[in-house]
Amino acid sequence: METMVNGQLELPIEDDRSRLLRAWNRVLRMLEPRLSRHIFETYLKPIKPVDIHNDVVTLGANSPFFKEWIENKYSHLIRSAFETVLGSEVRIELVLLSAEEEKALQPPPEAPRARPASSIPTESHFLPLNEKYTFENFIVGTCNRLAEAGARSVADHPAQAYNPLFIHGGPGLGKTHLMHAIGHHILARSSSTRIAYMSGETFTHHYVSSMRDHKTEEFRRRYRSIDIWLVDDIQFIADKERTKEEFFHTFNALYHTNKQIIISSDRSPRELRLMDDRLKSRFECGLIADIGPPELETRIAILQKKAEMEKIFVPDDVLYYMASLIQSNIRALEGALLRLAIYASVNKLRISTALASDVLERYYIDRKSSEMTPDTIQKAVSEKFGVEIEAMTGKRRDRDVVLARQVAMYLMRETLETSLPEIGLLFGGRDHTTVLHACDRVKVLMKTDAAIEESVRELMMKLRSKSE
Ligand code: ADP
Ligand code: MG
Repeated sequence: METMVNGQLELPIEDDRSRLLRAWNRVLRMLEPRLSRHIFETYLKPIKPVDIHNDVVTLGANSPFFKEWIENKYSHLIRSAFETVLGSEVRIELVLLSAEEEKALQPPPEAPRARPASSIPTESHFLPLNEKYTFENFIVGTCNRLAEAGARSVADHPAQAYNPLFIHGGPGLGKTHLMHAIGHHILARSSSTRIAYMSGETFTHHYVSSMRDHKTEEFRRRYRSIDIWLVDDIQFIADKERTKEEFFHTFNALYHTNKQIIISSDRSPRELRLMDDRLKSRFECGLIADIGPPELETRIAILQKKAEMEKIFVPDDVLYYMASLIQSNIRALEGALLRLAIYASVNKLRISTALASDVLERYYIDRKSSEMTPDTIQKAVSEKFGVEIEAMTGKRRDRDVVLARQVAMYLMRETLETSLPEIGLLFGGRDHTTVLHACDRVKVLMKTDAAIEESVRELMMKLRSKSE
């Protein structure tokens, strides 16, 4: 990852090791939503990426048991994810690591806040810029036209076009992306410019620790030496009186020495209640641009761009389908694309609208549902299978009762993601292993028994339509 040193972005040479670490982080991010939290934390997280050479990725496990378990159960999944990330075929090799080797492979701490707090904000305290967040990768539509144009002017003519630039809008709509784009653009033309990108939270943290250590003078000197000040998510300081006061002083000092200030917030300056009118009137001298929810065409264009960047082939009708399903948050849209890509690659399926609807609707519609509950599931199953709810939750073991019970358990697990012990409780206090067994059995039956497969599918559809 790049770091800020003396106001410049230092890009490490992309050696195999950093390529591997970067790929591994993306693999983890792809797999996380696919696996249960427990599995992810227990098996995937502790794996150490060791080496990448030609098409062989070597991963390390710290015990023979884990090594074997990962080899048998998860290596195909990991391999598919690597192939998606790297865009080429790979082989996965697992090796056993000694404690020393494991320690040696520990990646250096990443987040500035993970380091021992120092009250003096040095450049390396400022957050690094994400290399993908550039103007070239930013799709312009009606919803963000003004913000993008403002950001470009500021990047082209710092402290001359608009000062400050204030960008506001809901989560996941591209505020951070635009701020990083400004930073990249300015650095590309003049690498000695001292750019400080930070969140409102980081600013607060710096300020509070500088007070604690009696180093506010040093804090001020540091902050006053910045050329371009990017403060993301400033709403964080809105209810912190002393931080707000300090923010105001820093703002003024930079403003009067003709330094560019760029601020983002999830609210407009009016709603922000940042401070008295002094600050508000300052904001009004600059440019205030809001970003709204993207329209359908923009959502499709963004998806197209992301698919291209990630080297995922997605047919147009699928892009259209996804852009219609997820409307208000671009981050969610990106998440859906990755989710779909990993699912298709792991299961060796072609990306189609039908697949997208299978993979995504459950997640994006059912999650929102407040209507679908364990009760509605039990009721629906009871009607479909002609088995009383009391029988399902009771002790009877006749074939049809057992089947209905197992299907209901499976549906709760799949659609509501209810935990195994909880499902056990809902069915008369059964053990979680019984529930696990039930879910596995239904999965098998759905593959081997067409009638059952159809019943379960129908139930799913019925439950889904309830939740819309
Ligand atoms: P915010 O800071 O407003 O919460 P982000 O800037 O983090 O949102 O954007 C969320 C994700 O959506 C990022 O991955 C970003 O690259 C992407 N994104 C947002 N708007 C656009 C756009 N207009 N074009 C391309 N990608 C976008
Ligand atoms: Mg943001």
